[in-house]
Amino acid sequence: MPVCACCPPTRPAGRRALLAGLACIGLTAALPPGARAASGLPPTTLNPDQALARLMEGNRRFLAAAPPTGPGNLERRAVLATGQAPFAAVLGCADSRAAPETLFQAGLGDLFVARNAGNLADVGAIGSLEYAVANLGVPLIMVLGHEHCGAAGAAVAMAQQNLALPAHLRDMLLPMLPAALAALRGGGDAVEGTVRTNVALNVARLLTESPVLAGAASAGRLKVVGAYYDLDTQQVALIP
Ligand SMILES: [Zn+2]
Repeated sequence: MPVCACCPPTRPAGRRALLAGLACIGLTAALPPGARAASGLPPTTLNPDQALARLMEGNRRFLAAAPPTGPGNLERRAVLATGQAPFAAVLGCADSRAAPETLFQAGLGDLFVARNAGNLADVGAIGSLEYAVANLGVPLIMVLGHEHCGAAGAAVAMAQQNLALPAHLRDMLLPMLPAALAALRGGGDAVEGTVRTNVALNVARLLTESPVLAGAASAGRLKVVGAYYDLDTQQVALIP
């Protein structure tokens, strides 16, 4: 059984294994095109300038489409220029398919979002969430993992084959190794097991490594929950 949606069931050793691990998290872009492994969908055909133009055109549409009332209306945007009061925070994966604002139909100013590949409670995420809770009064943090997570797939590949990854990629994925090793020991789909265990570990990490978050939780001002986004059904379910 494949351990990852983008990895073959038996990965080759050496350079090809490294490429497979990199491909899991979409980090082969710097490699020669011929060295890139398949990632399920073809990469964008836009060149850098076209990509920038598309982004900026999106902002022009955003400006032009502001309704007088309803979500994202001009009055709300003007209020947000003076401050923010989000009702929840999300620690999510950087995956393009798991954007919290879209999944939860949230508007500008609704969610305080920290994202990285693997929804990891690293120093940047913890500091950001401490700000959200201590300074903005956010009462809820959701750690959100998702189906077919490429970071989890790479962590599983790393745990199985001890891949020699580039430094930043290796350092980013190291905190996922305990989840990957536990999932491999537990049997079943290793990537999905890694995603779920990783969410639980990072919920615990937020509450054990941050006195700010732990204090708010013990005072009843904060709840930290874990959740899983299913790409097939588009449903978000809490992880008990
Ligand atoms: Zn992911």
